[in-house]
Amino acid sequence: MKILVINAGSSSLKYQLIDMETEKVLAKGLCERIGIEGSKLNHTPDGGEKNVIEKDMKDHSDAIRMVLDALTDENYGVIKSMDEISAVGHRVVHGGETFSGSVVIDAEVKKALEACIPLAPLHNPANLIGIAACEEAMPNVPQIGVFDTAFHQTMSKEAYMYAVPFELYEKHKIRRYGFHGTSHKYVSLEAAKMLGKKPEELKMITCHMGNGSSITAVDGGKSVDTSMGFTPLAGVVMGTRCGDIDPAIVKFIAEQENLSLDEVDNLLNKKSGVQGISGVSSDFRDLEAAEAEGNERATLALSMFVESVRRFIGSYMVKMGRVDAIIFTAGIGENTPVMRKAILNNLEAFGIEIDDEKNAKAIRGAQMEISTDSSKVKVLVVPTNEELMIAKETLELVK
Ligand code: AMP
Repeated sequence: MKILVINAGSSSLKYQLIDMETEKVLAKGLCERIGIEGSKLNHTPDGGEKNVIEKDMKDHSDAIRMVLDALTDENYGVIKSMDEISAVGHRVVHGGETFSGSVVIDAEVKKALEACIPLAPLHNPANLIGIAACEEAMPNVPQIGVFDTAFHQTMSKEAYMYAVPFELYEKHKIRRYGFHGTSHKYVSLEAAKMLGKKPEELKMITCHMGNGSSITAVDGGKSVDTSMGFTPLAGVVMGTRCGDIDPAIVKFIAEQENLSLDEVDNLLNKKSGVQGISGVSSDFRDLEAAEAEGNERATLALSMFVESVRRFIGSYMVKMGRVDAIIFTAGIGENTPVMRKAILNNLEAFGIEIDDEKNAKAIRGAQMEISTDSSKVKVLVVPTNEELMIAKETLELVK
């Protein structure tokens, strides 16, 4: 069975076609600048070269048609006809409180997704457009929605409520939702396999550290707390996002800098984080290079990132009372031994010991245990694979 995974943004559309018998990616690609002049499709078949197809895509329907043409092309295609696609799995950012798992998309689901737009005004409309475009191009193929928020719907009320007037929760659903759920779920399941245990037996802390970062406490296979909140702005220090700050700072900045609320929101989302502190870059490769050259603000930015991740790890250890494994994933988690070491430094008293040699060897693409043999808490690097998780969830629903 072959499943097409779609991640639609406002002017982009990423896709992967996955063969579920082998879990192999048959082809993947990206449509860029949809609805903007100069749109193009980058399409790469497994084992083949990247093909860049420059053609106007006035909307997402055009984009999907181009993707299907590329997948069935006689030169760089990987299937004979689109009838070989058994189902489409869509990444949907926000499922609100309505969706605690993946769903087959029908009219009612789409209505519920529209109702979630105020919670994710940038992402959900694009996801809905992607779904509509696929329905139009493949009317008889089941469409499945897989939500970034769904895995965290198992949090208890005291973990997800904010101490603002209860009526605001009732009226506007203001609460912690958490994001990166597909990734946290995937790596926690893979970690359980690596440890030869059932997810139900394990207490884990999963650290998804990429351009956006979030930390999750996974108890018995379920998310019980997570660092992102009502939006993905909360939690740890990120590439350009501030993470947790005193909410009173928003009004203070607006008044002192004479900025509108939208401008402050933009500043906290796009100009803060390690980029804002260092003034160098949001990319940890650049920051590590700047630190090596003696840039003190780059060092401060990296230390603040480390400190903020440690804060959540400490709090989740207390929450769960025991931790069996800590998992690192995503761009920073998979590629930076220095960050992993700094985050878990000096925690031997809590049974956490990193093996420096193993840590240095763990590179992107490979699952690895990086704790010492005597470490009570296992520390693992598990490459995330959100597309495969979406495809697995899709398969589960269409089987
Ligand atoms: P992601 O959002 O998971 O794709 O992660 C992207 C981020 O990971 C980049 O912005 C970098 O900060 C970081 N990253 C990726 N590769 C490396 C690397 N080799 N060394 C350090 N940081 C990296």
